[in-house]
Amino acid sequence: MNRIYLPVDIYFGENAIAQSGDNIFNLGHKPMIVTGRQSAKVCGAEEDITKLLERLDREFVIYNEVTENPKIETINQGIKYFIESQCDYVIGIGGGSPLDAAKAIALGAANHIEGDQLFDTKLHEKCYPIVAIPTTSGTGSEVTQYSVLTDTKANKKAGFTNPLIFPIVAFVDPKYTISLSQKVTRDTAIDALSHLLEGLYSNRRNQLIYPMIYDGIKLIVHHLKDLLLHPTNVKLREKIMKASLYGGIVIAHSGTTLQHSIGYPLTTEFGLSHGLANGVVMKYIMELYYPAIKDELDELFLHLGMSKEDFYKWLDSLDFSFDMKIHDDFIEDKILEVVQSRNMANNPFTVSTTQIKNIYYQFK
Ligand code: NAP
Ligand code: ZN
Repeated sequence: MNRIYLPVDIYFGENAIAQSGDNIFNLGHKPMIVTGRQSAKVCGAEEDITKLLERLDREFVIYNEVTENPKIETINQGIKYFIESQCDYVIGIGGGSPLDAAKAIALGAANHIEGDQLFDTKLHEKCYPIVAIPTTSGTGSEVTQYSVLTDTKANKKAGFTNPLIFPIVAFVDPKYTISLSQKVTRDTAIDALSHLLEGLYSNRRNQLIYPMIYDGIKLIVHHLKDLLLHPTNVKLREKIMKASLYGGIVIAHSGTTLQHSIGYPLTTEFGLSHGLANGVVMKYIMELYYPAIKDELDELFLHLGMSKEDFYKWLDSLDFSFDMKIHDDFIEDKILEVVQSRNMANNPFTVSTTQIKNIYYQFK
């Protein structure tokens, strides 16, 4: 049986806030805008939303302390500020980091919980409404029920899942991504590509969503390199943002797999961006999974008009140069974290520790 459940009101396209922003009117009286240091300002999204709030005669506060791979401490501070300011909904603006932080703050404030308690779904009874405005084309967090945080004490990434944190409204405007650097454009698009592929890899794969998967992957493979050459082309930005939105819808239904869990330690240990961590292992994961999901992947390559080898060449041409040498100690230290991560339940078959180690050994 397949099911689609997506309780997010999605407005996709240029000037989405100007055209449809009034739809937030009934969400509450005082939002807290949750964002990073720079990007919401640089890309114009913060100005669009503050103008809207002023026109709607709404007070608001801004919490712009969220950094990449958001830290639990930042969330705790945001929860405190939200409660003190008597806010009643959040507006997350940014890449996946501010959007995930916005979700955690809305949930933490509603239930008066913080820190490790955020991961305990038994303590999640309600959540303040969430508005999501993505400024990267990658995570699809604007349409997922996930929040991924970083536990700095344990030096590891940990997420939680709850339908309560699905945003109520998402404004997805490709023009906000024009200011992305070439590297963030590439890395985040590769994150979206991972999500789309994982919709085929996952043992929770959902055939109703296959058209989005095939279309989304096609958009990235056919247009990403062109976009990297023409970063201000909003039509190309729109294609990649659509793929990212599709990727979010895919993982909201099928979850992620080893493709993601194997990359988390590469981010915490070597500082690889989330998308790059997915990208460097992508062909090894595909090679591992291929025999188990040959039909789905062959169908994909038919849609793309390329062979698996052509796909690998295309990946190589994106030039994932990075400074990373993996030692045995790292593997021994992190293997348990990978094996125990919740995404492992979604693999197409039971993956052994030797198979995971063999992928890490590619980077010795
Ligand atoms: P990000 O960490 O949100 O942002 C990366 C960098 O890009 C930051 O320096 C940010 O600046 C900058 N930036 C963002 N938008 C920009 C714009 N329009 N113009 C210029 N610079 C911009 O990157 P991300 O890849 O989107 O998010 C990664 C996080 O999402 C990871 O923690 C990952 O685990 C998580 N994730 C969540 C889900 C989910 O479903 N919840 C799915 C996949 C991944 P500022 O610091 O100024 O903002
Ligand atoms: Zn991801």
